[in-house]
Amino acid sequence: MADDNCIFCLISDGRIPSTVLEVENDDFVIFQDIKPASQHHYLAVTKKHYASLKDLNKSHDSLVQLMENALKDLLCPREFLSMMPSSDSICRRLSR
Ligand SMILES: [Zn+2]
Repeated sequence: MADDNCIFCLISDGRIPSTVLEVENDDFVIFQDIKPASQHHYLAVTKKHYASLKDLNKSHDSLVQLMENALKDLLCPREFLSMMPSSDSICRRLSR
């Protein structure tokens, strides 16, 4: 359930049109930070509101894994890997 007082819920619900969603599915979205600390500073946010990481438990493992995989795919697309062999070590590091 989304929280109308939470900026991340508003973004994940598409109610902040200026935020470009790089990834969107039924469970989460991924978008670039509004003040990125680096070129590839992305945030993965669940569509369901969680006030804290402490609200997560073992039942969320698969969701967290899906979010991690989506971030890896965003950062290390296969096309990029085929063009830039040197990037492979970076992506392998991310895969750990
Ligand atoms: Zn929220």
